Amino acid sequence: MNAPAPVNKVREAKLELYRKKGKIHAREVRGRFNSLRWAVVWVTQLIFFGSCWLQWNGQQAVHFDIAHEKLRLFGLVLWPQDALLLAIALILAATGLFLVTAVAGRLFCGFACPQTVYTSIFMWIETRVEGDHLARLKLDQAPTSARKLLLRGSKHLLWGLFAAWTAITFVGYFTPVRELLPAIADWQLGPWEIFWLLFYAVFTYVQAGLAREAVCQHMCPYSRFQGVMFDSNTRTVSYDVQRGEPRSRQARAASGSTGIKSAKGDCVDCGICVQVCPTGIDIRDGLQYQCINCGLCVDACDEVMTRVGKPAGLIRFASEQELAGKPARGGRPRLAVYGGLIALFVALGAWTATQRSLLLVDILRDRGSLAREAADGRIENAYTLKLMNLVEEARDFEVSVSGLPGIELVGASRFAGVPGGIREVHATVAVPADAGPTGAHPIHFEIRAVQDPATRISEKSTFVLP
Ligand code: SF4
Ligand code: SF4
Repeated sequence: MNAPAPVNKVREAKLELYRKKGKIHAREVRGRFNSLRWAVVWVTQLIFFGSCWLQWNGQQAVHFDIAHEKLRLFGLVLWPQDALLLAIALILAATGLFLVTAVAGRLFCGFACPQTVYTSIFMWIETRVEGDHLARLKLDQAPTSARKLLLRGSKHLLWGLFAAWTAITFVGYFTPVRELLPAIADWQLGPWEIFWLLFYAVFTYVQAGLAREAVCQHMCPYSRFQGVMFDSNTRTVSYDVQRGEPRSRQARAASGSTGIKSAKGDCVDCGICVQVCPTGIDIRDGLQYQCINCGLCVDACDEVMTRVGKPAGLIRFASEQELAGKPARGGRPRLAVYGGLIALFVALGAWTATQRSLLLVDILRDRGSLAREAADGRIENAYTLKLMNLVEEARDFEVSVSGLPGIELVGASRFAGVPGGIREVHATVAVPADAGPTGAHPIHFEIRAVQDPATRISEKSTFVLP
């Protein structure tokens, strides 16, 4: 990546590049926030592109198995019955996002949002193919030529390939990726796979390659309502007006060489903070909803300050209180509320997880024949039991019944369960003819896993005596 150009050479570029409208060609910048941003890109993309290739007990470790209504997560199998756990996880993620926003503004937007991550990758490809921000601007303005077509074609081809690979990876979490790739090669895809592959590829290409900052500014609702989570102690990327103004290109000459404090502010009005901004704004105009808090202008300005011999931090993560020279306000109720909600939902999630049954049973009494008299004089009712074995291991289930004098199962009482699946079995229950008066009587089925006695469940049903 290119380092910012010397300060005295950048004014012309600023005038060309700082456009309220038109395509933004952000300048590359080095610095701690840029490094952090790329670290997040690497981590998230290694997880995204890598996880679908991991195997666990002979199956894909992360698999949204829609056909069988289950989600496999490294040996853990979640079913529709676990929707509460999923809801708690989503609430926790949202509350965590609110907490981070209240503390440090749109940190998620600037570093971890998929839009930011993929835009960074697409811009990196663009820079490698077409050159730096000035070269790209020049190419925009150049008449159509073989070179321009070649560069543009190469860029779009690479974008397309990358978008296609993200789509394959995404669909690979639903159709095991090791089956999906041969299916693509053999044109053996189902209609939904074709739809999602095309949709996700086009979506990635348009959002990260073409729309970019417009998504954050005009499509993302979060940018519009995040302000309600801010207070005067929220640390956002801010320009220190007290220190920077009045800005002047002469500030460096006035103070840098003599050590005498200049009447000018520290901002040398180089415009590099604007050139590096992926959303094309000038942070010196104050907090704006377009700012995604990526910190790239902080990196750029720190480097400029170092060059002109002034302390870094003219643009920095700072709160309103801090910029006004006031001490941070203690006791922020919104942090306590968000923190309390997180603690509450963590506890609720943990409790829900411990209460989670690894066996579910549906019992249907055979309505075709209410009751029948057996050869030995006893009264029999027939039932269908749906045994849902929620672990990916073969387990046997022992069934017993209670609730009427002399009640017992006729025939088999032990059934093999399907690993991670549902098995329907039929059971006949018999009672002596004098077990009770005519009518429906409540009874209980007890089902327990033979290999795991702690997994047991009791289900109600009725027994009809004629
Ligand atoms: S103003 Fe600074 S922090 Fe905000 S989006 Fe632009 S470069 Fe990122
Ligand atoms: S704030 Fe910093 S980077 Fe921006 S114009 Fe002033 S000196 Fe340059």
